[in-house]
Amino acid sequence: MTFWRQKKLNELSHDEWESICDGCGKCCLHKIEDEDTGVIYYTSVACRLFDITTCRCKDYQRRIDKVPDCVNIKKLATSRFKWLPSTCAYRLLEEGNDLPLWHPLVSGRASSVAEAGVGVASFAVPESQVRHVEEHIIQWLE
Ligand code: SF4
Ligand code: SF4
Repeated sequence: MTFWRQKKLNELSHDEWESICDGCGKCCLHKIEDEDTGVIYYTSVACRLFDITTCRCKDYQRRIDKVPDCVNIKKLATSRFKWLPSTCAYRLLEEGNDLPLWHPLVSGRASSVAEAGVGVASFAVPESQVRHVEEHIIQWLE
């Protein structure tokens, strides 16, 4: 089933919307915005609600209540999709691209994300272990 090619993001059912997320965890890393240039810098520091082992939110249903600055992509203006990493499936589709071969909906396996080196589990640092987030800025290879 290739529903993501036939529908726009705002036409997806709840389950279709949720299945678009590849589970990479990149959006659960802290970001820093340069106020002068608007450039977004990603860090390796994970949100306190992020489970680094599973690469998933520990309380997805109540995430917005527990972490007020958690980005609700469904309500994110498309002009702000640049905040999302370039591999993010929502951003890819919004920008008119197809899903990559390693996306679980294409590969049929959730493990293909980690195999492709896209997940953050191998390098994310727990927020509780970090004093200065700005010392943990990273750059994506892709
Ligand atoms: S960056 Fe996009 S695809 Fe990856 S976990 Fe976040 S919402 Fe899902
Ligand atoms: S609250 Fe959950 S979904 Fe939101 S950034 Fe934190 S770990 Fe990710």
